[in-house]
Amino acid sequence: MDQTQTTALGARLFVIAALAAAAWALVFKTGVANTDEAGIVLHLPEQVADWSGVDLLFCPNRECGAQYAATEVEGRAACPRCGAPLGNMNWAERSMLPADTGLVRKYYVRPGGRDALNATIVLSGDDRSSIHRPQVCMTAAGNEIADERTIRIPLAGRDAPLDVRVLDMARPYKRPDGTSATAYSYYAYWFVGKDRETASHIVRMAWMGYDRIFHGVSHRWAYIAIAGTRSPGSGAHLQTIADFASQLHPALLKPE
Ligand SMILES: [Zn+2]
Repeated sequence: MDQTQTTALGARLFVIAALAAAAWALVFKTGVANTDEAGIVLHLPEQVADWSGVDLLFCPNRECGAQYAATEVEGRAACPRCGAPLGNMNWAERSMLPADTGLVRKYYVRPGGRDALNATIVLSGDDRSSIHRPQVCMTAAGNEIADERTIRIPLAGRDAPLDVRVLDMARPYKRPDGTSATAYSYYAYWFVGKDRETASHIVRMAWMGYDRIFHGVSHRWAYIAIAGTRSPGSGAHLQTIADFASQLHPALLKPE
């Protein structure tokens, strides 16, 4: 049994134990306090290693769907194309996420325009349901998940590596001339709660249940996502994700 299998088995046993405890607690316990404590800061740095980031603004109008670098629409509160008020969520996020969900996003590029990617932090509000299983949103947006795995990224100054779930996606589309083409992209993510970190949606759910039951609290969980394009048949994007995530991770830690 290799380490990945051991981890998967461990996670499954933990989930089963937590679910059993949840069933017990539903019967015998009441009173769970929401806390405002989050495990990270809701802020993305301007610079991550040699990547430079700019803020993105979105038009909430589904028919328009425009997105802009903040520098393109400096000083303007409305979409130049359709006049709708610009915000930091795209139409899908605005329609799916509760209004008190925190969200920050930046578009990062390396010198020469290399390794362009979007980084997003979503922080759940009072309604703890804001964070969904990402696979559902991706397939709803027309993507096929071609491959999926957890990568372990070494972090400077910490023994435990950072686990990140990476989805390789393919989305068929029609070019303006009617011919078929495929867009290849990746979506990488992990979850952070107070003193908790996991790339697994089910482990996160189990931790939430555990904290509710044994500590009587529900913390705000955050979700960190990195997205970009990839070349089909190449694993080069995994190195890009590892480089970026290992440099971003220390910048997200809360000051003690
Ligand atoms: Zn618009």
